[in-house]
Amino acid sequence: METNRFIAERMEQVPFSKIRKVFEEVLRREQKGEKIIHLEVGRPDFDTPDHIKEACKDALDRGQVHYTSNYGLPELRKAVAKKLQVENNIKYDPETQLIITSGVTEAIFMGMMALLNPGDEVLVLTPCFPAYNTAIRIAGAKPIEVPLNEADGFKPDVIKMQSLITPRTRMLIVNTPCNPTGAVYDRSVLEALAKMAIQNDLLVMSDEIYEKMVYNGAEHISMASLPGMASRTLTLNGFSKNYSMTGWRIGYVAAPSNLIGAMLRIRQYVTVCPTSFAQWGAVAALTESQACLQEMVAQFSRRRELVYEKLSSMKNIHVCEPRGAFYVLPNVSKLALGPTALAHYLLDEAKIAVVPWGEAHIRISYANSYENLQKAMQNMNSAIERLQRSS
Ligand code: PLP
Repeated sequence: METNRFIAERMEQVPFSKIRKVFEEVLRREQKGEKIIHLEVGRPDFDTPDHIKEACKDALDRGQVHYTSNYGLPELRKAVAKKLQVENNIKYDPETQLIITSGVTEAIFMGMMALLNPGDEVLVLTPCFPAYNTAIRIAGAKPIEVPLNEADGFKPDVIKMQSLITPRTRMLIVNTPCNPTGAVYDRSVLEALAKMAIQNDLLVMSDEIYEKMVYNGAEHISMASLPGMASRTLTLNGFSKNYSMTGWRIGYVAAPSNLIGAMLRIRQYVTVCPTSFAQWGAVAALTESQACLQEMVAQFSRRRELVYEKLSSMKNIHVCEPRGAFYVLPNVSKLALGPTALAHYLLDEAKIAVVPWGEAHIRISYANSYENLQKAMQNMNSAIERLQRSS
């Protein structure tokens, strides 16, 4: 029986990701025994550090298996507030200005649902992490895509943004270090964005999930630490990337208490709280040794250099140097195949999985071993040369 009539109309605003097709193809091939090098993954390839797992196991043994506060575990909120003050120079009250979330994804969704009215417009620097646009649409609001300036290292073009502001513009999303571009915005860029937000009375959603993954002297600066910004900024961050805890589903959002209150009312009826014992693991992540983090970032830094150098030497591929996160976004528009066809071609010819991104790019994640990345880059180079010879 045809059952489409049971699906809500709002779901027409939420397409399946185009990326899925490539993922499904990768899966099919692996099931047949083909060896594919994964450059499509958006997660660190390391295990969660042992001391974090131990803290979680200990919490289970101590019977920490019940609901926590809707705001999240008080011990974790305190640790997050301390971290935000010491590392990010932003002061939040752990009692009223912080919610521990089931990953940054939940914080994005709650933020849009609690703070956007239908018809509101949100400035989204593009290319961007796809969850923003989806959550904006589900909230009945409208993403206004503002192309990042690729010629200038994927920096925001503040003048262009300004020209897109209307009386309906309510929010601006900032993601630095950025997925998928790898850009890290300097203080001057953030100051220009902050000035624009203040002048136009905009809220800012600042997604800082890749905060620790910065290389070659790049510095992460929190939007809310800039003068006048804490009262209009939602600071989003989490444990997925920094501590290789994607499956634990723990993140947080910090903001003025009335905005937090609005988000909490959604949380009360959707997830109630994040998994109690996973939150104890996150306490250990923040309060114990950070050596694991430094080791992981050192590995990413080495891999970044390799991948950037190899991609830069490939003919007709243009690549901006990534300064953060663990992605690079080469422009492939000079090749004979568009991004989706190219991703399939690379799967066939180089045995590597990449993500087609928009009309001109593919995203490559270097969350894979140095050896695999060496092989992947070699395979890709040969495949691209063959493609150019034949076209
Ligand atoms: N924000 C960005 C920019 C991301 O790249 C991701 C995951 O890839 C997320 C948020 C979601 O992270 P979480 O696992 O905390 O939900």
